[in-house]
Amino acid sequence: LSVIEAVEPRIAAATRAELTDQRGSLKLIASENYASLPVLLTMGTWLSDKYAEGTSGHRFYAGCQNVDTVEDVAAEHARELFGAEYAYVQPHSGIDANLVAYWSILAHRIESPALERLGAKTVNDLSEEDWEDLRATFNAQKVMGMSLDAGGHLTHGFRHNISGKMFRQHSYGTNPETGLIDYDKLLADAREFQPLILVAGYSAYPRRVNFARMREIADEVGATLFVDMAHFAGLVAGKVFTGEENPIPYADVVASTTHKSLRGPRGGFVLATKEYASSVDRGCPMVLGGPLSHVMAAKALAFAEARQQSFQVYAQQVADNAKVLAEGLMKRGVKLVTDGTDNHLVLMDVSSFGLTGRQAESALLDSGVVTNRNSVPNDPNGAWYTSGVRIGTPALTSRGFGAAEFDKVAELITDVLKATTPVATAAGAPGKAKYTIADGVAARTHAAASEL
Ligand code: PLP
Repeated sequence: LSVIEAVEPRIAAATRAELTDQRGSLKLIASENYASLPVLLTMGTWLSDKYAEGTSGHRFYAGCQNVDTVEDVAAEHARELFGAEYAYVQPHSGIDANLVAYWSILAHRIESPALERLGAKTVNDLSEEDWEDLRATFNAQKVMGMSLDAGGHLTHGFRHNISGKMFRQHSYGTNPETGLIDYDKLLADAREFQPLILVAGYSAYPRRVNFARMREIADEVGATLFVDMAHFAGLVAGKVFTGEENPIPYADVVASTTHKSLRGPRGGFVLATKEYASSVDRGCPMVLGGPLSHVMAAKALAFAEARQQSFQVYAQQVADNAKVLAEGLMKRGVKLVTDGTDNHLVLMDVSSFGLTGRQAESALLDSGVVTNRNSVPNDPNGAWYTSGVRIGTPALTSRGFGAAEFDKVAELITDVLKATTPVATAAGAPGKAKYTIADGVAARTHAAASEL
């Protein structure tokens, strides 16, 4: 850090402080992890200085032979790790990977057949009129994904994301009694809505998905099955999700992040069947800026690490720890969405403590427990204050936490929730943001958290 300090001390200080924060508190954000030192170091090299738009062997710049090697090795590891026909490792993040996925589906399902029908080789050969017709056809397409409050992601067709502005959207929720995906209802909705794209995947659904069933539904309505495995890629890579719970054999296109349960650098990637490969390959410069070659190199390392037996042990421990955490919370009186978990995350409904998600998140942070507030299905508090808090096990499992530590984590969380009281508004109603914590609890919890 002395090298950084010499140029801008505030950046060195913030970097140092981030290390203290990440090591001195309990990192329970379900989408975070600790990448290995080789992965971190690989991102700090001169590969960053090279421009390489295009794909390996087909670049818009000269002198890309080393970047070609980096991209080829990363893609090879990704294909082998997931057993995929094709891998594209350029996306800079999960949202970028989803954009590439959407674009590739539009290109394959809408653009290519239109060009063929009109006898054109590329869009440059189209008349102004045909081009306008084609653009209007893109906008008329429909996407169906999981609703935000059931655990879906903004990129699954919501109005606050480009996916909702570019497509017509219908979302599927979960069964109000069980909190689980209702596949029969999903099929009925899909029959009525007739989406071009069926999206499976989530940010905050604490259960596994049956991708064989999703495939059947997609086939029934002629939709492309797109799986966003950003959250659970590590459990697929680590062979915790196998058979019908592994999306790769069932999906046409799969997008993911590399930095969540997969424990790689911040980034994304797309897997696809051979059929969609050439459309995905056009991701840069279609929707992506030039590839971050240093990050592609770090992705290669992370994929290689995930191919080792030790990663399978890690992934199984992530899922086992989530069960211990869920049981530890429930036995102490915390209500969980779906009454448990079978993946890497747990969604607490904190309304029974009289708290909003925002109050619980802040009180936990004061106590050295880092989480994020999250909507629960049909949340009365909306997406800003929420009634839930999402917690996950990937990061602390990387620190070596097992069952005993996660039971202690459940105890600490419950103690803080029980000790937190909302502060009333001027009108006397419980407020949604302010709170107090009973004397000494935050400091005691923080001390216990840093000892774990
Ligand atoms: N997809 C899902 C399901 C996610 O949960 C997230 C991130 O939270 C993303 C995509 C976006 O990932 P990124 O933040 O890397 O763009």
